[in-house]
Amino acid sequence: MSCPRIEVDLGKISENTQIVARRLNARGIGVTGVTKAVCGHPAIAQAMLEGGAVGLGDARISNIQKLRRAGVTCPVTLIRTPMLSQVDQVVQYCEASYNTELVIIEALAAAAIRNDTVHGIILMVEMGDRREGILPENLAAMAQQVVHMPGVNLKGIGANFACLGHVAPDAAQMATLGNLANEVEARFGPYIETLSGGNSANLPWALSEQSAGRINDLRLGEAILLGVDPVSGKQIAEMHTNAFALIAEVIETDANPIHSPIKLVDSELAKLRVVSNSDNIKRLILAIGRQDTDVMGLSMPAGSTMIGATSDHLVIETKQSRPKVGSEMSFQMNYSALMHAMAAPDIETIMLHDQRSRGSRRAQNTAEHLVLV
Ligand SMILES: *Cc1c(COP(=O)(O)O)cnc(C)c1O
Repeated sequence: MSCPRIEVDLGKISENTQIVARRLNARGIGVTGVTKAVCGHPAIAQAMLEGGAVGLGDARISNIQKLRRAGVTCPVTLIRTPMLSQVDQVVQYCEASYNTELVIIEALAAAAIRNDTVHGIILMVEMGDRREGILPENLAAMAQQVVHMPGVNLKGIGANFACLGHVAPDAAQMATLGNLANEVEARFGPYIETLSGGNSANLPWALSEQSAGRINDLRLGEAILLGVDPVSGKQIAEMHTNAFALIAEVIETDANPIHSPIKLVDSELAKLRVVSNSDNIKRLILAIGRQDTDVMGLSMPAGSTMIGATSDHLVIETKQSRPKVGSEMSFQMNYSALMHAMAAPDIETIMLHDQRSRGSRRAQNTAEHLVLV
């Protein structure tokens, strides 16, 4: 099998979606599965839909085109403000997009008319993340323009949290979003169908006892893919955190640990580095590096420590019995490592469909695998 590769357990992604969708649906909230970290991989998107996602969202039109070409027909939303240069593709491939700029909405409307369609506009409100969004006090004026613009319809309003600002939303902010929708409806008429409360960082609020109010959509990527709450980094109860594994191949095992500390140029790595002074510790080199993934986001197997990485090499020390050249090691990835690895041209993505196929594949290769933490 090719190396390096990402092994994806689709059953776990589907189950993660199911767990979170069931709990959110009971509170009147639907799940939009976000595929940007997996570059719009159609099989992974399909697993989200099978698990109960009602639609998909991605930040890039190229990923959405990939989904459509693979036959995905569900509603797909562009969750990053469209580029002016891409408005025609946006109205052709997406039911709706998140927007913050009137000039882009006007261009989308013109493109929708050219393409004989009507494009849904979800206005993104800035509620403290300091990334994208219309200030709440300017929302009504923008909504009024959209309502009167042929080619588009005002489908919803949304907010985003904890992307740039690391602040998770609270019940008061969610209630404010609901009130903004009420106000727009009262002043300009149209029913606001979608109230999208945010991303995976909203789950602690959404799964709490507090009323969901008018919020009826969350856009979830990290929680479904990795089973963790992005703000705390902790596992979400019952969710799988190991749907993905990054497999790399050992290319050198004879490298001797240097007992005296070497000078490291990278201060980030220097902080994490543990200098070994035991003869039981072996150093190995794997054929994967910074060009392939965010190496700082890899979890090392038990008994192993990362020493450092260059563009194409990952150097680790391990207490495990010395793996052979040509054997494979398996790493878990955080969101950043996953997103980079999925986009790396030299890493193949391989689907494991369920526990059974995963088990048998593993069984054949036990001798070649180190065990994960
Ligand atoms: C990335 C993104 C999401 C999904 O975020 P996760 O933390 O992966 O759930 C949702 N909405 C917007 C606007 C995004 O950019």
